[in-house]
Amino acid sequence: MKIDVVSIFPEYLAGLQLSLIGKAVDQGLLDLSVHDLRDFTFDRHNTVDDSPYGGGAGMVMKAEPWALALEHILGGKSPETVRGEEHTVSGNSAEGEPAGNGKPILIVPSPAGPVFNQRIAEELSNADHLVFACGRYEGIDQRVIDWSAQHFDLRPMSIGDYVLNGGEVASMVMIEAVSRLIPGVIGNPESLTEESHEDGLLEYPIYTKPASWRDRDVPEILLSGNHGAIARWRRDWRLERTAEIRPDLLAELHDLDKHDRSVLDRFESGDESVKE
Ligand code: SAM
Repeated sequence: MKIDVVSIFPEYLAGLQLSLIGKAVDQGLLDLSVHDLRDFTFDRHNTVDDSPYGGGAGMVMKAEPWALALEHILGGKSPETVRGEEHTVSGNSAEGEPAGNGKPILIVPSPAGPVFNQRIAEELSNADHLVFACGRYEGIDQRVIDWSAQHFDLRPMSIGDYVLNGGEVASMVMIEAVSRLIPGVIGNPESLTEESHEDGLLEYPIYTKPASWRDRDVPEILLSGNHGAIARWRRDWRLERTAEIRPDLLAELHDLDKHDRSVLDRFESGDESVKE
């Protein structure tokens, strides 16, 4: 998968060189490029923002540097070449759509977008090319976002109902969630099953040695060696934890069997809990 990130703080993205994502880049599973938006500016101060039309607080990111950066990603022209050209942006000015199945996906982090989740991460993990446009200040001039929809599959995306200072951290969250689903990125693919959100349920509690720690024992069933009983205990835990903490997720589940329903009924009536 190819991933491009555009930011005025490219150094923010350095964390992606670490751990499993960094390894995936080294192994060629991910082709990650980070672009400095200021490379696509032409004035002495490398200006990327200006005051908002209509008044109001804060600054707005200018359309032209964004269009040039995105055209560079689409057409592969270097910032130096872009600088040497006449800078008119028309709807057809990009170097055509890149090869591959369809347009690259342009993710524009924004608290005003639909909320990113595991289902979207799974969908994006099948894409060939993701581009992340990290906004700052009050955000990006709407015209370049509208313009980009001609060249990209445009996806504004929020990582939650709160406001960050910029799109870098939000992009890193999404890049990590998507990348770990690409085959080969996580050493043991079994780690991806039964995780929270993988199938709509939260994860069961996990323990490691020693079996007794500060007078707290690991649940006996986990020491029993009875794999069927352990699987059932874990599923029951997942059902109860989800009912307790995220009942909204349960409402989305349509494949609960009779036993699952009886666990939830007992839990909801307060009769019996696997946690006891
Ligand atoms: N004026 C914008 C609004 O009210 O929707 C907020 C701008 S915010 C201060 C600056 C940038 O941070 C945004 O352009 C976006 O890139 C990023 N950002 C902030 N909160 C975010 C969130 N919850 N999810 C994704 N990106 C976010």
